[in-house]
Amino acid sequence: MRPVRLTEVARQAVCDALCPGDLAIDATVGNGHDTRFLAETVAPDGKVLGLDVQQAALDATRVRLNAIWPSSRGSPVDLFRCGHEQLRRTVPPDWHGRVGAVMFNLGYLPGGDKTLITRRETTLAALDQALPLLRPGGLISLMVYRGHPGAQDEADAISQWALGLTGNFEVTHHDSPGPCLYLIERRC
Ligand code: SAH
Repeated sequence: MRPVRLTEVARQAVCDALCPGDLAIDATVGNGHDTRFLAETVAPDGKVLGLDVQQAALDATRVRLNAIWPSSRGSPVDLFRCGHEQLRRTVPPDWHGRVGAVMFNLGYLPGGDKTLITRRETTLAALDQALPLLRPGGLISLMVYRGHPGAQDEADAISQWALGLTGNFEVTHHDSPGPCLYLIERRC
């Protein structure tokens, strides 16, 4: 039997947490696979915000989304060239406490600049800002890589951060020989 990939575990958990019409965030847009997945899950009435520091990532994602929603007016996705450490002020105030899911897929852009990676300080800042955005039942999906330079440092810091979460949040950890996945659900 084929082993279940962590990306599938993450998507199933996000799918279970989200309802049509929901608000969702892709905190590391990359090539836009998760952005598109979130948009298809919450469409037609929901909204998705996507953040990335690289214009190349946002351009590739816009092309991917245009294949489904040719007019940006019909698209449920707003893209921001901005670091996720700016999450709180990028997300409209009326979304705070109402977000159904926030997805993080850390590391570098596949096929892009491998020196432009997510980093411990900014990732932890983004995670701290993501928690109060969630509604009860909302979920953070956090895919963490450990293979590239700097990755283990980020992974260790995230592990400590997750251990410090209080009873309002339920953390599930999935490990693999490659990445590991944290699913963080807001209970109430
Ligand atoms: N490692 C994954 C893909 C990760 S893509 C895989 O193999 O599929 C990670 C994305 O995070 C990249 O596009 C990168 O530009 C983006 N990124 C890096 N720092 C960021 C930050 N501070 N805020 C938002 N996005 C960031």
